[in-house]
Amino acid sequence: MSFTVKGRIVALAGVAAIGATFMAADVNAQKKTKFVSIGTGGVTGVYYPTGGAICRLVNKNRKKHGIRCSVESTGGSIYNINTIRAGELEFGVAQSDWQYHAYNGTSKFKDKGPFKKLRAVFSVHPEPVTVLVRRDSGIKNLTGIKGKRFNIGNPGSGTRGTYEVFEKAMGWKRSDLKLASAMKSAEMAGALCDNKIDGYFWLVGHPSGSTAETVASCNALIVPATGPEIDKLVKENSFYRYATIPGGMYPGNPNDIKTYGVGATFVTSADVPEDVVYELAKAVLGNMDAFRKLHPAFRKLDPKAMITDSLSAPLHKGAIRAYKELGLM
Ligand code: GLU
Repeated sequence: MSFTVKGRIVALAGVAAIGATFMAADVNAQKKTKFVSIGTGGVTGVYYPTGGAICRLVNKNRKKHGIRCSVESTGGSIYNINTIRAGELEFGVAQSDWQYHAYNGTSKFKDKGPFKKLRAVFSVHPEPVTVLVRRDSGIKNLTGIKGKRFNIGNPGSGTRGTYEVFEKAMGWKRSDLKLASAMKSAEMAGALCDNKIDGYFWLVGHPSGSTAETVASCNALIVPATGPEIDKLVKENSFYRYATIPGGMYPGNPNDIKTYGVGATFVTSADVPEDVVYELAKAVLGNMDAFRKLHPAFRKLDPKAMITDSLSAPLHKGAIRAYKELGLM
C-alpha cells in the first residue's frame, strides 16, 4: 500500500515536472518573441500597405529573429511621430517635413520641443500634394479652392499639417473656405463623389487606392499645385521638392500634373533596441526585389536613395549596421 502511495506520489511528481518543463519552454518562447507595431495611416492610403509590406518581409524570418511585426491603421504622420515619442509605437511612417520639424522642434512641434531621440530608418516613396476635385466644381488650380467646400485632412495627419503651412503661404484664413472638413483619408472619396465636398488636399504616394477609388467612382480631376507661393515654399524649405503625378496613371487625367511634395519615411526612436531595427532595415533593404513588388508606388525605389534622401533625423544605429553589412554604406 505504501508502495502504491509512493508510486502515485512519484508519478504525480513526474507529471508535475513534465508540466513545469513545458511551461518553462512556453515562457521562454514568449520572452523571445518581440512584438513591434508600425503606425501607418488610413487603409486606402499607401502608408498602410507600406507597413504591411515591411511586416511581411520581417515576419518571414520570425523563427530566426523572434520578431512579430504588426501594422496599425492610424491618423497619419504626426500621430505616428507623437506615439513613437510616447513609447507606444516602435515604428511609424511619416512625411519628411514632419520628421524634420519633430527632430528640430519647429512648426507644429515647437511646444513639445525637439524630439532628439527620433531616428530615421529609410525613406520610401515620394508623396506629392494631390488636389482632387469634382469636375463640376470649376476648380482648375490652387487659387480655385478659395470659397469651396474642401477637405484639409484629419488632425494628426501629415496632410493637415502640410495644408496649414500651405494655407499660411497663400495668406488665407480658414474662413476663406466655404467649408473646411477634417475627414480621414478613407472617407474622402465617398464624400467627394456624394457631393459633400468640392475637393480634397492630401499627400500620398502614387498610384494610391483612395485616388483610384475617387477617380473611378465619379471621374474626379487632379489639378496642379503650382504658383509663386509654392515656388517660395520649395525654395525656402529643404524637405519640399517639385513633383509630377504622371499623366495617364489615373483614367480621365491624361496629362502630367505639376505639383510639389515631400517623401514618405520610416522612423523609430533611439530607445528601440539595435537588433530590432537592424532586422527590420535588413528585411527591406536586403530584399528590394521583393519589396518593390509589394506596392506599385515602390516600383522605382533605389536603395542608395532610400538611406539618404528625405531623412533629417540621424539613422538609427541598428539601420547603420544593416546597411554596412549590405554594402550600402
Ligand atoms: N501622408 C499622409 C499623412 O501623413 C498619409 C498618406 C497615406 O496614408 O499613404 O497624412
